[in-house]
Amino acid sequence: MKNYKIDTLCVQAGYEPKSGEARIPPIAQSTTFFYGKTQDMADLFDLKSDGYFYSRLANPTVAAFEGKVSALEGGVCGIGCASGMSATSLTIFTVAGAGDNVVSSSAIYGGTYNLFSTTLPKLGIECRFFDPDAPAEEIEKLIDDKTKLIFTETVANPAIVVLDFDKISKIAEKHAVLFAVDNTLATPVLCRPKEFGAHIIIHSSSKYLDGHAAALGGVIVDLGNFHFKNNPRYKSFNEPDESYHGLVYADLPVAFGTKCRAQMMRDFGAIMSPQNGFISYIGSDTLALRMERHSENAKKVAEYLSKHPKIEWINHPSLPNNKYHKLAKKYMPNGQGGMLSFGIKGSVEKCAAFMEALQLITQETHVADVRSCVLHPASTTHRQLSEDDLKMAGVPHNLIRLSVGIENAEDIIADLEQALAKV
Ligand code: PLP
Repeated sequence: MKNYKIDTLCVQAGYEPKSGEARIPPIAQSTTFFYGKTQDMADLFDLKSDGYFYSRLANPTVAAFEGKVSALEGGVCGIGCASGMSATSLTIFTVAGAGDNVVSSSAIYGGTYNLFSTTLPKLGIECRFFDPDAPAEEIEKLIDDKTKLIFTETVANPAIVVLDFDKISKIAEKHAVLFAVDNTLATPVLCRPKEFGAHIIIHSSSKYLDGHAAALGGVIVDLGNFHFKNNPRYKSFNEPDESYHGLVYADLPVAFGTKCRAQMMRDFGAIMSPQNGFISYIGSDTLALRMERHSENAKKVAEYLSKHPKIEWINHPSLPNNKYHKLAKKYMPNGQGGMLSFGIKGSVEKCAAFMEALQLITQETHVADVRSCVLHPASTTHRQLSEDDLKMAGVPHNLIRLSVGIENAEDIIADLEQALAKV
């Protein structure tokens, strides 16, 4: 597809029907695909031709969504996964094994933090966390010759820390190490990390991409701008893969994406289902419109809360006094997204009283869909974390996360007003 603007790509990318075919991607609800000639199938297995043979590796409906997200991010290959967590896991496993390490921002989604701090070490992969506000020299000290990936989030969930792309991309470039960004909460409509030096994008498409809280999913995008060939850090890309007829991934035009699908998806099987591919594809048609409205509404809500006497602090990068305002203006100039967090003055019990008094805004684990919702991370998503880990993740005890939906802003504010009056 031509290099259309982002809002056009949201509507049109990923699927171009031939004459007489369905206008939107049909749901290819089939595990397997028919071929009349043995050689045609052999060519598919040898990666000599494109096509489908088994839906654990690729499926036409999922491919439409993968193609759209890849086009939105400016990538060369998208890989649809069963969830955002499986997208992150497969990204790590594509580059790292026992004895390797990953260097990650500590301000990341709680589930990812658990994966990195608890599960990866059990598999022999160490995770070294850094404070995203730390100076470059301090972050750099964590990198050694076993470092396979730097991991960050564009807008951290739930701390709403905006990433300093220039700082991290310079480190990644200097050490020739892969720079992966979870772009879930910014979406490519508000920020395209490729323009700021990222190499791999991860999405939980369960959030804004689908937008309706209807389909769990994840997408990995290979931006095709990392040089694996002869990089001593990435032996597994430069040596023959005996499980794939001696293929050397660094020699391929799409090295990371091919290894991720051919090796990791084959072995872990965490692919997106065709139904979820379809729901996510049509959901993302309206992404550009929705992100505009989410950002506008969140800005209005943040301005309202910043003046409320019962609010101790409020965190949204649209506010001029916000710590990340400058970075947000630089990397997300057209809108700072729908996620905000704030603290209510007084005891933690007040958080519960406030949330239970809400009538329109609901309490949910989810974020980033069309409906406004709240969560108290310290007692839910982050409850497994110790005091120190909570601090590292930037999650104080009185933090309430508010995901501002696309309802009328006046109604959202009126609901907050009546609930705060009851605290
Ligand atoms: N990344 C971010 C920023 C998230 O907020 C989440 C989930 O909330 C995930 C990844 C994990 O995605 P999923 O729930 O689709 O596995």
